[in-house]
Amino acid sequence: MNEFFPSVGIIGAGQLARMCVGPAADLGINLLLLAQQSDDSAAQIANHVIGDYNDVSTVLEFAKKCDVVTFEHELVPLSVIKAIEAAGIAVRPNSAAFVYSQDKSEMRQKLSRFPTPEFQVITSAAGIEKYPLIAKSISGGYDGRGVWKITSKEELSKLISEVGKVLIEEFIEFDFEIAIMVARSPHGQASTWAPTETVQVDGICTMTIAPAPRLSEELSAKAQKLALDIAQELKIVGVMAVELFVKGEQLFVNELAMRPHNSAHWTIEGSVTSQFEQHLRAVLDLPLGSTSMTSPVAVMGNILGSSKIDMYRPYLHLMARNPGLKFHHYKKDVRPGRKIGHVNLLGASVVELVQEVQHALDYMSGEVDE
Ligand code: ADP
Repeated sequence: MNEFFPSVGIIGAGQLARMCVGPAADLGINLLLLAQQSDDSAAQIANHVIGDYNDVSTVLEFAKKCDVVTFEHELVPLSVIKAIEAAGIAVRPNSAAFVYSQDKSEMRQKLSRFPTPEFQVITSAAGIEKYPLIAKSISGGYDGRGVWKITSKEELSKLISEVGKVLIEEFIEFDFEIAIMVARSPHGQASTWAPTETVQVDGICTMTIAPAPRLSEELSAKAQKLALDIAQELKIVGVMAVELFVKGEQLFVNELAMRPHNSAHWTIEGSVTSQFEQHLRAVLDLPLGSTSMTSPVAVMGNILGSSKIDMYRPYLHLMARNPGLKFHHYKKDVRPGRKIGHVNLLGASVVELVQEVQHALDYMSGEVDE
């Protein structure tokens, strides 16, 4: 033991916390997780306490064991985060920044000086004449849940009668979607990684390609500057994903996620410093690491649950076929459509990497057997 190393508390023990475990161990940083159950993805491999993140006294008791507290999801009530702050314990990002990842209407208002889709918060369809449009629940959505494409006033009225207040947005016919991961420390040091194209199917990200191959150099620089400016504006501490739509030469900010994000899982092998290590460095106010890529291209494929349950056996074929594939399993129960792991592959050719990663995904889901 060496008592000089700090303890970082993470609220949540899913795969994002799990992927912080390796970097924390390398740096000698103590991790303590607030898990819901002992078989949560990260709780299987790291120190944890079990408790409800909605309960102020549970979270306070947990936070008192930590030098700094962070979280891996946006579901922690703002009141709980404020209670930790009131107890004098550092929460990163803090409540003033966190609110923007929890409440889509606050986020849209705060980002009004940045290029975003036109938006409105409504409780009635009266006066809304331009369709199609995108409607979003104000909070709690993920993986396309809580996002609806609305084609008529009737549909909008029906949705409002079911969910109440919604955020509506101009429907952007974008060419493709990208995400920029940015990290910022309390000192104000900030860095980004290469912009990443995210391929979505039915609202779920299935694959990412970094650097985004269809993005011009000029737009790439612009997108990174945008992410750094937003991080500075919100005084975010830790990592944050800025999801953007690209349409021609225009960028539109779609969403923010103030935590490690699926779009930057490639950084585990594809960058000198992964998003998980960088998040730990940032919340501890350590100098940030290099975000240079370790190869020209990095492709990540999400392993989604299918009818195939044995996720170990596919290693035999896939590891033999391609020794470059890097697997990251979250050890979650396999359920159809659930993100249960991902695979990374580095190289020089986008086409070849995408093909190989797609083959690995198809093999694991049982769609191909050789
Ligand atoms: P979540 O991250 O909660 O799943 P998003 O806000 O990212 O929700 O929306 C999910 C998907 O819906 C996006 O990836 C995009 O494909 C589509 N989408 C969201 N907003 C718009 C918009 N204004 N115009 C067109 N498509 C949109």
